[in-house]
This record gives sequence, structure tokens and C-alpha cells, in this order.
Amino acid sequence: MKQQPILVGGEWKLGSGNPMQSVFPADGSVNAELRAAGLEDVEAAIAAADAAWQAPGWRDRLPHERAAVLYRVSDLIMARQEELAALQTRDNGKPLAETRALVASAAGTARYFAAVSETLDSEITTPRLPDTMTFSQYEPLGVIAAITPWNSPIASEMQKVAPALAAGNAVIMKPAEATPLLALKMGELFEEAGLPKGLLSVLPGKGSVIGEAICRHPRVRRISFTGGTRTGRHLAHVAADKLISTSLELGGKSPTIVCPDANLEQAVKGVVFGIFSSSGQACIAGSRLFIHASRYDEFMARLLAVTRNLRVGHPETEGTHISPLITPEHRDSVAAYVDQARADGGRILCGGAIPDDPALASGNYYLPTIIDSLPHDSVACQEEIFGPVLVVFSYRDEDELVRLANDNVYGLAAGIWTADYQRAFSLARRLAVGTVWINTYKKFSISTPFGGYKDSGIGREKGRQGVLAYMQQKSLYLGMSPEPIGWSD
Ligand code: NAD
Repeated sequence: MKQQPILVGGEWKLGSGNPMQSVFPADGSVNAELRAAGLEDVEAAIAAADAAWQAPGWRDRLPHERAAVLYRVSDLIMARQEELAALQTRDNGKPLAETRALVASAAGTARYFAAVSETLDSEITTPRLPDTMTFSQYEPLGVIAAITPWNSPIASEMQKVAPALAAGNAVIMKPAEATPLLALKMGELFEEAGLPKGLLSVLPGKGSVIGEAICRHPRVRRISFTGGTRTGRHLAHVAADKLISTSLELGGKSPTIVCPDANLEQAVKGVVFGIFSSSGQACIAGSRLFIHASRYDEFMARLLAVTRNLRVGHPETEGTHISPLITPEHRDSVAAYVDQARADGGRILCGGAIPDDPALASGNYYLPTIIDSLPHDSVACQEEIFGPVLVVFSYRDEDELVRLANDNVYGLAAGIWTADYQRAFSLARRLAVGTVWINTYKKFSISTPFGGYKDSGIGREKGRQGVLAYMQQKSLYLGMSPEPIGWSD
């Protein structure tokens, strides 16, 4: 098989690191062979990036000229949506319907940040001194490390690359080990769109070696990270030592609440989508469900009926709901959590096993699983499983509900299903999470800031502020008086 080159400082070349592969989670076949970036590639990429963002040819371009590159990338992505979605399905095993949506989201992100950068102003600050005018302008930070996980390639990469480039920085992109292909494709598309060489490098490789070397490099001025909380906490230390800023988008164990007055049909479908889409491999998966006791039996009967009807199947078959998990090791980890839940007294109401369909035997499949009767402090209720596993509780009292919903180290998101918006609003204010969906779930708008409370992270992505996170402010004072400063008289 021909080796896939990587993008190092504007040059496509074989990485100088160890051999690695992209593997199709549905059957273990190899999509691509490549060599990871080595430490010398990290050095070369960062040196090229540092030169490229400061080059007058890029730095002095007008904002709308820089934005034009992002608009062109967006158009190129949409023109190749099917091809990119198919590639991502091979790379991470998500069903085509989901990968098409992720590709479209990446295109929208590029357009949004192009528009933000075109309309970004400096600020005239109110002068407090007579005969002085002050203003602040935003400047790029320099070289940015963008580190991403495997669950939403291209969408999570664009969420970092687009605002960072729009702000005038250079980016070193390090995709997850399991999913290098979409980030490399993005590198190709930026090149085709006219991004000057060196501004974007794509360095696949092991996080603890290549990711670590990128983040520790003295010329890297911000770490933009999406991934697990353990890695994020470690990178916060790395950033603290260097006195640089970070954004950390980390894990979750999000509660969904079904109030007594919820529209049950809507709520059931929302809950099923919230936990089982992407086979539960989503930071925002609604993985803990709290149902008011007065509706518990009715809701559970409907929930189980809809869940049992989900189509577990090949990600390239249209209509598949549940596709394979990313790797056999990850599937084993999900299965181990369910075994632990059984041992802790949980009732497995559906799923709880690998499917027995021989057609699925060579993929990393796990059945959508619903468990009740667990103590809330048990492992399956507290830790992020990152798979198709939902734990369910009933509640009567709202104070007790809020206590349990907040009884977790994570605080990424929550869902509330109710016909009463006053109740929803007061409940939402009591939940220690960064995003609350009310009568909907897992919907995203690029103009709405996103990020976690507690161990789910620091900083926000998206929104107009999303560009400013990649900039620093410089304040200027203009003396307007013709008189000399009298101090030395
Ligand atoms: P991970 O933390 O293992 O890896 C994420 C990335 O960090 C990978 O590219 C990895 O190679 C790299 N990495 C690992 N060690 C590193 C180091 N020492 N220095 C620099 N980089 C390093 O996470 P994962 O298993 O790939 O992804 C799953 C996690 O991501 C889940 O916890 C999920 O909740 C989280 N996630 C969060 C969001 C969000 O927006 N909050 C979105 C998607 C996924």
C-alpha cells in the first residue's frame, strides 16, 4: 500500500516517526499506512510556522483577503462533502449520515470565522487622561497547537484551525492517532484554497510523544485541546509552566431530565438521539437519565421500544443508527463498564452485549444498553464510558434531582424535557454545566459559545469571542498635547 505523506511546514513528505495506520472500525481493514511525524518534523513545522505568520505577505494582508482563504476552503469542503464523509466513515466508523453532517459543520465553521475576522474592530477606549487618546487593537499570538480527539474529525479540527488562522496565527495540527486522514485532507484543501505555505502543518503521531513535543515547544503560544480530562489536566500544567493560554474541551457525563409535564414522544426520541447517536462516543452524550417517578414506567416502556428498534449495522449502509466503536480496545472498555455495573447491582434492561449477528463479527460493535437500579455513586454512573450506555434513575423531589445531577466531576451539558419554560429556566440555572438544551439535545450553533464547567474544561470555543481567544490585545496611547511632559522642569 502506498504510504500517505504528512504536511510539515508546507512540504508533503513521509513522517520521520514510527509507522502507523488508519483502520476501518467495521472490519479491521487498513485504510491507509503512514509514518507518524518525528521530533525533527515538529521542529521543522514550528520553525516554518513561526516564519509564516510573521511574513509581511500574510500579516499585512487585509482581513477580507485572509478571510477569502477560509471562504474558499468552505466551498471546497462542500464540493467534496460526499468524498470527505466517506473517508471519515472509514477513518472512525461513524455512519454516513453523521459524517456528512460533520463535514457540513466544518464548512460552516470556516465561513463563520471568515466573517468574524472581516468584521473584527479595534476598540477606542474612553480616554481618562486629558490630551491623550487610547485604543486597543488585537494581534495574533503566534504559533498555535491544535490537538484533537478521534470522535469528530474535521469538525473539531476546523473549530480550532479556522479561528486561529482567521486571527492571523499559524497552526500545528495534531489529530488523534486513530484518525489522521481528515486532518491531512484539510491540509490539502487549505493549500488548494491558497493558504501560504507553513501556516498549517498536520503532524499525526502519538500524543505523549508528538503532541507533548508540540505543546512544550517554546515557540508555541497557545494550546487548543479537545480530548480526555486526564490529558487536558496534564496540558494545563505544561501551559502553566510556559505561561501560555489554553482552551480545554474535555469529557462529560451529562444528565438529561424528564419532567412530569414533558412531551413524552419528543423526549424519548431526544434521549435516544442524545445518548446513542455516534454510538455514545460524544463528549456531550446524555449518559445519565433522570425521569420523574410519575412518568417512569410509561417513559421506560417507550424508551426501550425505540432503543430495541435501532439499526445496529455497517456504517456505510444508509439508515444505520449504531455503528462500531473506534477500536477493539475501546469496545472492551465499554463492555467492562457494563460488567462492573452488573456486579454493582444494575439491571440491564436492553443490550449489555456484543451483537451476535455474524455479519458484524469483525467490527467493534456493542449493543445500545440501558441500565437502571444502580447506586448513583457507582462507577458506571460517575465515569465517562464514551459508548452506547445509558444509566437511568427516577426522581420525585427537585432538590434531590439537582443534587444528583450535579453529583459528578464533569459539567459539560444537560438536557431538560418539560412543557413549562419557567421550570426549565430555574432548573437550568441550578445545573453546573456549560450548555443546557431544553426540549432539544445535541444541537449546535457556531455562533453560540461552547465549553465545560468543572472537569469538563476551561475556556469557550465558537462565537465571536472564539477568534479573540487566539489574539492578544495591544493598547496604544497617543499624546495629543503640544506641550512637553513637565516632570523634569
Ligand atoms: P485523549 O485525551 O486520549 O486524546 C486527545 C488528543 O490528545 C489525541 O490527539 C492524543 O494523541 C493527544 N494527546 C494525548 N496525550 C498527549 C500529550 N501528553 N500531549 C499532547 N497531546 C496528547 O482523548 P481521546 O480518547 O482521543 O478522546 C476522547 C475524549 O475526548 C473523551 O473524554 C471526550 O469526552 C473528549 N471530547 C471532548 C469534547 C469537548 O468538546 N468537550 C469533544 C470531543 C471529545
